[in-house]
Amino acid sequence: MKVNRDAMRATLSRDPRVEDMMNGLQAVSRLPRRAYRDMRRTVALARVFVDEVVRPVYREIDLAVHRDPEYVPEEFILEASRRQIFSWWIPKLFGGHGMDFLGLYPFLEEIAATCTGLANVIGVHYLGVGTLCASWNAPVINRVLRESCRGDRTGRPCLISLAITEPEAGTDVEEPILLERARVGTTATRVGGGYVLNGRKVFISNGHVSTWHMVIAYGDRRNPVDTTVMAAVKTGTAGFSFGRKEKKMGQKACVASELVFEDCFVPDALICTSPEQYGKSGKSQRAVAQYLIDFVVSSSRAGVGAFAAGAARGAYETALAYAREKRVGCAPLISRQWAQVTLAEMYKNVNTARTVYMESAFANAMKGMFKLLYMRPFYAMLRLLPPWYFTLFAQPFINTRMATRLFRTVYFEKYTDEEAQATSGWASLSKFACSDLAVETASMALSLMGAHGTRHDSGAEKYYRDAKLLQIYEGTNQLNRLNLFKNLVARDMPEVRLFGREDI
Ligand SMILES: Cc1cc2nc3c(=O)[nH]c(=O)nc-3n(C[C@H](O)[C@H](O)[C@H](O)COP(=O)(O)OP(=O)(O)OC[C@H]3O[C@@H](n4cnc5c(N)ncnc54)[C@H](O)[C@@H]3O)c2cc1C
Repeated sequence: MKVNRDAMRATLSRDPRVEDMMNGLQAVSRLPRRAYRDMRRTVALARVFVDEVVRPVYREIDLAVHRDPEYVPEEFILEASRRQIFSWWIPKLFGGHGMDFLGLYPFLEEIAATCTGLANVIGVHYLGVGTLCASWNAPVINRVLRESCRGDRTGRPCLISLAITEPEAGTDVEEPILLERARVGTTATRVGGGYVLNGRKVFISNGHVSTWHMVIAYGDRRNPVDTTVMAAVKTGTAGFSFGRKEKKMGQKACVASELVFEDCFVPDALICTSPEQYGKSGKSQRAVAQYLIDFVVSSSRAGVGAFAAGAARGAYETALAYAREKRVGCAPLISRQWAQVTLAEMYKNVNTARTVYMESAFANAMKGMFKLLYMRPFYAMLRLLPPWYFTLFAQPFINTRMATRLFRTVYFEKYTDEEAQATSGWASLSKFACSDLAVETASMALSLMGAHGTRHDSGAEKYYRDAKLLQIYEGTNQLNRLNLFKNLVARDMPEVRLFGREDI
């Protein structure tokens, strides 16, 4: 075959579509070899955790919250903390166990295959961890994460939540183009030595059970993009209180809370990002705000994909067990062709969802939030050196401004649009594709199981209720479709208007 070498070289170096096709394949050569072994180990740990902790209690917890919306599964949180699960994926640099981040996704799938609500209790803590880390403010990260890890060691769980959604602004706060015109209400007013927060946040997962909250507020409500402030607020801080717990249809094990801020003072030492800090960065405030949102949602949307693969798998396994048991006429249901077609379709959905969320996870590891952790020398160092080494030698450096500057150089100044687009686009693809597959699969399980599937103790109806929420949080699936369009379809079409700009 004759090859035009110049054209090929140009395509390889310039056309991002060549890269898009191959996250998984790139991972084979770019990621450290141990990553696969670590991931398998994590799945085995997850299975033990499900057998010993999740399966015995999840249905009772769902019913308990249904009966009493004030109920929160404290025993489960305590047991997860006793097993160090809230510090497993915190890097050793910050006092954690430094488990491989890629393993977190299949871990969440395993839990969600039994109970998506309990998977969310764990996943949302890591959403809080990720949000804090995306600020790349090294001293605040060090302080909060070390306290969280200490919580696991001392039997006093120290969870972290993310509070961005407001009563009048949900979708809009997830994308800077929409944030420009959003009706945000939580303000951060500069006073000597810190910021004063006022306003309300709603639907904050794990709110009532978290010790730290990553709160997003705005210096100027008419110009939120340029005045975004992220503050780490501790439960018990004066001026901060909890409002109601939402009575929601699914994932009942994971409380969704209202957070109320009334003249709540947060000192500079707990301000993760602010316009003053951005001022020192080489990138525009808008670009930094975009990267910040992208880092957070790209890692968490892959996680929603993992929840969804788990919910789909749970529904499939429940339907399969039913079809083997149930007799229609004189034969088991599973011997009917239409049941076999349905089960094959469900099996396809589970495996498609898993493939898709792992593609997004690989993008995060190579081009997104975790890319520093997966560079071979860092990976080896973080794996091999004992935790005390980091406490002794790295901590003094982490607490300096130089550490923050270093992180921000890698993640803000040197970060490229191509990396951001690939990571964010794939995360949205994972989020909406997997959650749609989960709802479809849970619905198929109900159709296959007839009236029995609608009974609470059949297990099937819970997967449906739980899966539906996955289409809504971490940005609705409509928003995620638009984000995919922006990042992967229209990236070289500057003439295309995005997010319906003409009508907002
Ligand atoms: C169970 C649960 C847990 C949650 N946990 C958290 C949490 O831990 N932290 C947190 O901060 N938030 C959390 N949320 C909030 C969640 O992120 C928001 O619900 C989500 O972003 C959607 O916002 P909204 O509900 O305000 O919908 P809205 O923004 O009011 O949207 C309503 C409808 O309008 C559509 N829409 C809005 N804008 C556009 C647009 N520009 N283009 C096209 N369609 C549009 C939406 O797709 C949707 O169909 C949680 C929500 C739920 C249900």
